Amino acid sequence: MKVTVLCGGVGGARFVRGAVEVAGADSVVVVGNVGDDVEVLGLHVSPDLDSILYALAGLNDEQRGWGRAGETWEALAVVRELGGESWFALGDRDLGLHLVRTQALRAGEPLSGVTARLASALRVETRLLPATDDRLRTWIETPAGSFPFQEWFVARGHRDEVDGVRFEGADAAAPAPGVLEALAEADLIVLAPSNPFVSIAPILAVPGLREALAARRVPCVAVSPLIGGRAVKGPADRMLARLAGGTSPRHVTRCYEGLVDAIVVDEADAHDLAGLGEVRPIVTRTLMADADARRRLAEVALGAVPA
Ligand code: GDP
Ligand code: CA
Repeated sequence: MKVTVLCGGVGGARFVRGAVEVAGADSVVVVGNVGDDVEVLGLHVSPDLDSILYALAGLNDEQRGWGRAGETWEALAVVRELGGESWFALGDRDLGLHLVRTQALRAGEPLSGVTARLASALRVETRLLPATDDRLRTWIETPAGSFPFQEWFVARGHRDEVDGVRFEGADAAAPAPGVLEALAEADLIVLAPSNPFVSIAPILAVPGLREALAARRVPCVAVSPLIGGRAVKGPADRMLARLAGGTSPRHVTRCYEGLVDAIVVDEADAHDLAGLGEVRPIVTRTLMADADARRRLAEVALGAVPA
């Protein structure tokens, strides 16, 4: 069975790791968000692609929840000491990857090309595709003004309420090579338990992707990133409350109107399954607390279609 997963960073990456363990590395293609990409210290950082790479390579830091395990912070300490740009935490090992990526991009290699090389160097067999090779950047509209994604998320600690999200460059972006094929060839499409507004929406904003999903001939299942109406981490619940009017399964589902056939929701949300329309709820435990839990969740989500 071929599975194509649309995925943000940390939450999605955990799920993808489970999906690969269940279906096998060759059976899964991951389409990753690039709306959070940012230039820091002259380097091109792709936080969501890197979260996926690190998770699939088994290099991610489980405790901290992001970045690499065994990370050190010497370079950043020097940057701070020298009065350089230090608002965005980049560890020494992480920096090594950003150096390699940035050099390749400057030499004209597309992001999809360098991502494939990085994956292969890290012995990740799963195909990881950026949604687009073109420049697409998420902007957050708040009562305090409009901010590039990382300025709102990291520098301002996502404290501002979100009135809207826009994707600069999306109109002129093209799907990266392999993305439309991965959607067309899949037996199942999964929307990972990622933030609908800032992880999945920027992928769907690439012209052709939403249309491909809407025209799918195979099932598409979303996994809710909320448990008991609350985000496990991050601002997804606050964003849903303000932008979708609530945090129940129907509000999550509404973010994906016409795009999904089923939604995997947590037992803690099973009391409120009204208003899902044609979308079939699949109730299970969705907290990926450990390897077993993420494998079980992937099994349930992938089970949405007969093998
Ligand atoms: P980011 O780009 O690093 O913010 O990552 P994503 O957008 O992919 O994932 C963030 C979302 O993952 C948050 O809304 C969390 O609620 C959700 N999430 C994190 N861990 C879990 C989990 O174990 N289970 C579920 N259902 N959602 C999770
Ligand atoms: Ca992200």
